[in-house]
Order: sequence, then C-alpha cells, then structure tokens
Amino acid sequence: MTKKQFKAESKRLLDLMINSIYTNKEIFLRELISNASDAIDKIYYKTLTDQSINFNPDDYYIKIYIDKEKRLLTISDTGIGMTKEELDDNLGVIAKSGSFDFKNEHDIRDGHDIIGQFGVGFYSAFMVADTVTVISKALGSDEAYKWESSGVDGYTIEPYQKDAVGTDIILKIRENTTDENYDEFLQEYKIKALVKKYSDFIRYPIKMDVTVRKPKEGSENEYEEYQEEQILNSMVPLWKRNKNELTQEDYDNFYTEKHFGFDKPLKHLHISVEGTTSYNAILYIPEKVPYDYYTKDYEKGLALYAKGVLIMEKCPDLLPDYFSFVKGMVDSDDLSLNISREMLQHDRQLRIIAKSIKNKIKNELLSMLKNERDKYEVFFKAFGRQLKYGVYSNFGQHKEDLQDLLLFYSSKEKKLVTLAEYLERMPKEQKYIFYAVGDSIERLEKLPQTELVAEKGYEILYFTDDVDEFAIKMLMDYQGKEFKSVSSADLGLEENTETEKEDKENRKIFDGMKNILGDKVKNVRASKRLKKHPVCLTNEGDLSIEMEKILNAMPYNQNKNFKAEKVLEINTKHQVFAALKAAYEKDKEKFKLYTNLLYDQALLIEGLPVSDPVEFTNNICSLMT
Ligand code: ADP
Repeated sequence: MTKKQFKAESKRLLDLMINSIYTNKEIFLRELISNASDAIDKIYYKTLTDQSINFNPDDYYIKIYIDKEKRLLTISDTGIGMTKEELDDNLGVIAKSGSFDFKNEHDIRDGHDIIGQFGVGFYSAFMVADTVTVISKALGSDEAYKWESSGVDGYTIEPYQKDAVGTDIILKIRENTTDENYDEFLQEYKIKALVKKYSDFIRYPIKMDVTVRKPKEGSENEYEEYQEEQILNSMVPLWKRNKNELTQEDYDNFYTEKHFGFDKPLKHLHISVEGTTSYNAILYIPEKVPYDYYTKDYEKGLALYAKGVLIMEKCPDLLPDYFSFVKGMVDSDDLSLNISREMLQHDRQLRIIAKSIKNKIKNELLSMLKNERDKYEVFFKAFGRQLKYGVYSNFGQHKEDLQDLLLFYSSKEKKLVTLAEYLERMPKEQKYIFYAVGDSIERLEKLPQTELVAEKGYEILYFTDDVDEFAIKMLMDYQGKEFKSVSSADLGLEENTETEKEDKENRKIFDGMKNILGDKVKNVRASKRLKKHPVCLTNEGDLSIEMEKILNAMPYNQNKNFKAEKVLEINTKHQVFAALKAAYEKDKEKFKLYTNLLYDQALLIEGLPVSDPVEFTNNICSLMT
C-alpha cells in the first residue's frame, strides 16, 4: 500500500510532537475527547434538525478502552465520523491554519511553549503514541476506513470493517523511557483523573470499564474483581454551573479546550440572564491580539448553542464589530434548534441577546477601567484601536457607547488618560480639548506647534494611531467640549495683538513667500504659537495634514489627491526671520532660496516628504558655499 505524505507544516508539527520535550503530554487526552465531543455535537444537531435520522439520546457517548497487554488506549465516539476524503483532508493537514505558523527557528525552539498554550488537536496523540490508528465510519456512508500513521514518514488509508457510525482513535502507547513514564496512560486511575481534570464538563458521558474490587460475599478478607462501566465526567456544561463553584482554572481550561485563543484570557464574564429572553454565556477578553486580528481574515463571533446544542461555531450577529475581540459562547433555551443561519440574523430573541451581551461587555470594560487600571491598559494596548475604529465607523453611531472606554497619552500626566480625566483637570478658561498628531510620543514632545498650548499650561492628548484623529472628528466633542488640533489655524487662545501687528508689518514679505511657494500653501503668516522654532505648518479647514498623510497612503487611493490647506507660519522673533527679511530687501535669489528651505524644513518637521530632495540638498549646499 502506498504511503501518503503529510503536508509540509503538518510534518513539522508532527515532528515537534514526536520529539517533544514538552512535559505536559497528558493534554493529548483532552484534545481527543474534545474532538470526539465536537463530532457528537455535529451528529446530535443533525438528528434534531433532520427528522429522517433516528437516534436515541443514549447513543451519544465517548468510551475509553485500555488494553495493557497490547499497550493500546482507544478513544471511541459515536459522533458524525469521517469519510475517506475527510480522513485524508482533516488528518493529513493541520486544520487550524496559522495557529502553527513556523516562520522562523525561534518558533520551533519555543515549540514546547506553543504546545502548552495552543490546543494542538489530533496530532498531540503523537506525544504519547508510536502509532496512531483512526477507524471511522461517516454518517450516511456504508463504508468504513482505517487511517494509520507511525510518524513523519506518512500515513495510509484503507477500507475497514466497522458497524456503527463514529470514530475510534487507537493509540499504541510508547514504551517508558528513562525520563518519561508512558505506562501511566494505560492505568485506569490516571485516565480517570485526567478526564476529571480536563474534560469534566463535556456534555456527553465519557465511559470506561473500570475494575471494581469488592469483598467476596460471606467472606471478610477475600475480594473479587469485576469490570463495571462507569461514567467518568459530571457532564454539566461549564456555563450551566454555579459561578461560585468554579475556579479561575476551570475558566482558563475551557478557553483552551474550546480553542478560543492561544493566550491566557485577561478576563472572563460568566453571564446568566433570566427573563423574557434567558441565556447563559461565558465570554472572554483575550490578553493578546490574535495574529490575524487586524486583517480581513479575522472572523468575529461567539459559539451559539440552543438548548445546550451547538448550532453555530461562530455566530457573528452576537457581537458588534467594535467588540469583535471577545471570544466565548452563548446558550439559550429560547432559540429554536431548527433555525437556519439566514434566519438567525432576523431573529428577535437573538437580537435581544446580542444587545444584552454588548452592554455586559461594555460594563465589564468600564469596571475594569475603574478598578483594575493596569489590566485595562493591557487590554487597551491590544484592542484599543478596535474601539477607536468603532467610534469612527457607522457614522459615529456607537460613539456614546465607546467614548468613555478610550485612552490617550497625556502630555502632562505622561501616561494614558481618559477623556473624563482630561476634562476634570481642565482650567475653566480653556475652551478646547487639545490634541497633537504624530508618529510617536517622542516626536510629538518636540513638535513646534505644541509650544503655545503647552506654555499656557494646557494638557495635550498625543495621537499616535492612524485612526485617532478620524475617531475624534467623529466624536466632535466630549461633554460639550470640542476637540482642537494644536496645528489648526485658530486655537481659541486669547488674541495676541502683537502678532497681528507683526503680520501686517511684514505682509509684503509673506506675500512674496506665498508667490514663490505657489499653491503648495494657502497662506504664509506670522505665528502666534511658535516660541523657539523658526517655522511650522498648520492647517485651515477640516482635513488636517496628518489626515492627508493617512488618506494618501491608502492603497486604493491611487491619485493621492487629498490635500490639506496648509499655512506656513513664521516665527518673527527668530533670528532666521531677520535673515529672511534682509534677503527680501537686498537679494531676491537668496530670498527665494530661504523660502524654499524654510518650507522644506516645515515639511520635515511634520513628517512629510520634501517634494524634491535633490533640490533641497542643493539648496543647503548653496547656503554653505
Ligand atoms: P481541530 O479539532 O482544531 O479542527 P484537529 O487536528 O484536532 O483540529 O482535528 C482536525 C479535524 O479532524 C477536525 O476539525 C474534525 O473535522 C476531524 N476530526 C478529528 N477528530 C474527529 C472525530 N473523533 N470525529 C470526527 N471528526 C474528527
């Protein structure tokens, strides 16, 4: 029989499993039981929605068999089974693409950590077994097949005899080594303990024939042994349990078992709502950003159960986009099992649940912000951008819900602050909430435009995320206080008549500069805001210079036709201005040179490219020689 090859990544994962130095090998059982439970979920759901299939609820179970002599451990389920093609597709390749992304050697060296955090599924069987055999018969199929592999050199598939629909996973347990006791995976007590530890909440019975010792009838010191089938798990799903009985570890295990994430969750919410619409939910806020989170591949959603039966693995309608990072599940007795995916969207009950979930998440985040600030900042660093997108998208429809969850870096506090905190500290006469936009905090600290506002003693919020200014423009104001960029033409600060005078006196010079610069700028004028720096760019109108930068960088915008109305501001107190003035009067060529140089400098400070770098360097050279 010809051997088939594993796909490249699968091979590497397998290799890692086989040679694993990972000590927590016992998790293989959790993974296999969890797969079995998923397979039963699938068939159970089918039988409930398809009247033509006849099934007795007692027929759904998982059974574990131990054969010490042959060193075999079998996990058998009455689930949906796999066809020949499915055996090939599902077991020949890693299903969870991306969860095992070996891009570099570093990932491989850290392999044992990865195994610990990621549920790695079926392949984990190879941590404890030399050979893994899968015998499966799919629902609706007459044939059964045997899949078998002893490791990286490939696998075989051949027809096999199996009467009932379902899957048997047979592990040939490895021989003990000096550091590793594999024998214990053939011990009843060990398997019992592992099921209790990792799989207690599996909804279907996990059965095993357990050896029972009983005093022989009529005898005090003679015992007889016999086999008795026992159910090893409690079967009450986690979400139906009383919160007080559950430990943090239970919730963490559930998160891993359900493959919600590869990290440890930052926070969990266990919700039980009774009322016209009742539901239970366990929700998680992850600690780390999933690798594909900010891409279009990311799918939001919660697992949806109706009356305890899984009807959809990722129901997107349960979560608003701005909370798309939330993982977890919802179970409601008020939903119909027969509901189709298309119908779900319009289901009234589902909408009520979704709204309730949204509010619960929001309140949880608000209370985290209030009571566990450090934790909240960890959360915000990971997912704050999503909240800001949320403020911006849908024409600001959700801004009320989200504005109090936002954090921005404060020029004064040197840390992240809320808008409410900003407002609280704001002096009475301050008209606006000020902000500055730039690539980094370090750069913003040096931005000339902030000089005047900072000198007044006003706090400035530093916007370093692309989305920040867009979100704030959508917000427009917070508690009636408008936002104002330190780069905008009118800062609403007290009028500085001296600057007006300077501007008038030097109008001819400024107009001359404007002539040279053409439509690169809308205006040139004396600056009110500059204290130490010679020049800066500010803007009039709605589109800021930062927004121009972002919009023109968008891949779909080929024409790069966004243009902020830029104003070149000149510090008339600066020595450079004296030189400029002198040039204006005596040397028109020099005046032109200075004007272009000052403009280019302003662009550079702003983080914008100079339009002609060669000319710019030539200009500097001619200045030096
Ligand atoms: P995951 O469970 O995360 O998808 P696995 O590698 O554990 O990844 O399993 C791959 C696929 O193989 C599963 O998605 C499922 O379709 C199939 N599978 C695994 N075990 C069983 C089983 N006991 N019964 C039916 N299908 C199974």
